Amino acid sequence: MDFRFTEEQEKLRTEIDDFFLDNLPSDYRPRGQRGQTMEQYKFWMDLQRKAGAKGYLTPGWSKESGGLGLSDMEQGVVMEETSYWGAAWPGSQGIRVCGPPLHVFGTEEQKSKFLPGIAKGEDIWYQAFTEPDAGSDEANVSLRAVEDGDNYILNGQKTFITAPGQGDYLYTLARTQDVTPKHRGISLFLIDAHSPGVSYSALPTLGVFTVDIFFDNVKVPKDRLLGELNRGFYHAMVTFEFERSTTGGGAGARRGMEELIDFYRNEKPNGKPLLENPAVRDLLADRAIEMELVWLQGWFAAWHFSQRDKLGSPPPEAGGLHNKVVSADRAKQLIDAMGLYGQLRRGSKYCKYEGRAAGSWEVSRSTHPAGTIEVNKIVLGGRGLGLPRIPAKFNKEIRAAIEERG
Ligand SMILES: Cc1cc2nc3c(=O)[nH]c(=O)nc-3n(C[C@H](O)[C@H](O)[C@H](O)COP(=O)(O)OP(=O)(O)OC[C@H]3O[C@@H](n4cnc5c(N)ncnc54)[C@H](O)[C@@H]3O)c2cc1C
Repeated sequence: MDFRFTEEQEKLRTEIDDFFLDNLPSDYRPRGQRGQTMEQYKFWMDLQRKAGAKGYLTPGWSKESGGLGLSDMEQGVVMEETSYWGAAWPGSQGIRVCGPPLHVFGTEEQKSKFLPGIAKGEDIWYQAFTEPDAGSDEANVSLRAVEDGDNYILNGQKTFITAPGQGDYLYTLARTQDVTPKHRGISLFLIDAHSPGVSYSALPTLGVFTVDIFFDNVKVPKDRLLGELNRGFYHAMVTFEFERSTTGGGAGARRGMEELIDFYRNEKPNGKPLLENPAVRDLLADRAIEMELVWLQGWFAAWHFSQRDKLGSPPPEAGGLHNKVVSADRAKQLIDAMGLYGQLRRGSKYCKYEGRAAGSWEVSRSTHPAGTIEVNKIVLGGRGLGLPRIPAKFNKEIRAAIEERG
């Protein structure tokens, strides 16, 4: 086993680092300056376009699609450095979640129409799957798409859709047939976000800005169906595989750790740096181990993906689940180490470490995006470990027993 990168890959790493060093302010602190205010959002939008012009947003995509045609491992190197610098690309859903399955299921026309806009950082896509009665149970989607000549007409609602700014396209699941089992009657559509009849209502959460989206007789041309009619559920499952990928995550954690060590070194509550406190050193040791795990999991997944022709499709990744499970503990440890100051939000003149302790605690409460902890466990248990599912007839028996008990 060789954990080193090739000389070309190291050169690519330096090139990406130089891009960020040349374009970010000298006092930039990635973890403290996420794209939250409109000013920050605009900053990242501008930088996203610059990165897109160089092909850095989607280095693994073909040159015709706006990428650089690099290998999976090289793409991993670019993602790693991008994550190290904490780039908050407004178009990240298009880049990471919607674009990759568009390569797999899109027609040639769809690919040439949509992929370059994502790769150049111009077009913003949002993944609109969740509904009031269809979250973990995606098969329950009820946003209805009815055929009407050359179009589908959509009526219904999506909810909790991450949307930090104005979007251009919605990558949307809708019901095209009433059938049992329900998941065989769903299709995937690529919808103009500004189509007449689409409206939005704000739904700010602890972590990110989300919206409700309403569809009122929205006309969607038939050539905006992605993949096969009534196979949208399967296309959505492939989309989740891309969404849950953690390649690059380890580098973001490394940068966070470097900044945390810096903070502990300079923070001297009783004249002694916090870095000398044994409890703090314990906390840092835990984080260093977790960081290493995330790094290894991410690269294992990237390597497996690069070998998919020989090894078959990669097993689901555990990194995202691991991160959800430990992040609340990590945030609490940080608050404990900082004492009462840990509870002050960014914006208070007394807050320390840019209020990141309170901020990360709030964000860590939100474990629903990209599937809840339980759903991620089910995926890992079934697809990763090959554990059997409970047969449907037992589920019915269990439900009947619960109902009988009242
Ligand atoms: C901040 C935020 C951003 C989001 N962004 C997006 C987005 O951009 N696009 C999008 O489409 N959606 C988005 N979502 C929605 C998210 O994907 C859903 O919240 C998630 O899929 C869970 O669905 P639900 O909220 O309906 O919960 P439910 O599915 O109702 O689940 C409720 C609880 O029951 C548990 N549960 C459900 N089924 C099972 C089971 N079979 N076995 C064991 N336990 C189970 C769940 O784990 C959970 O704890 C976002 C959500 C949040 C909070």
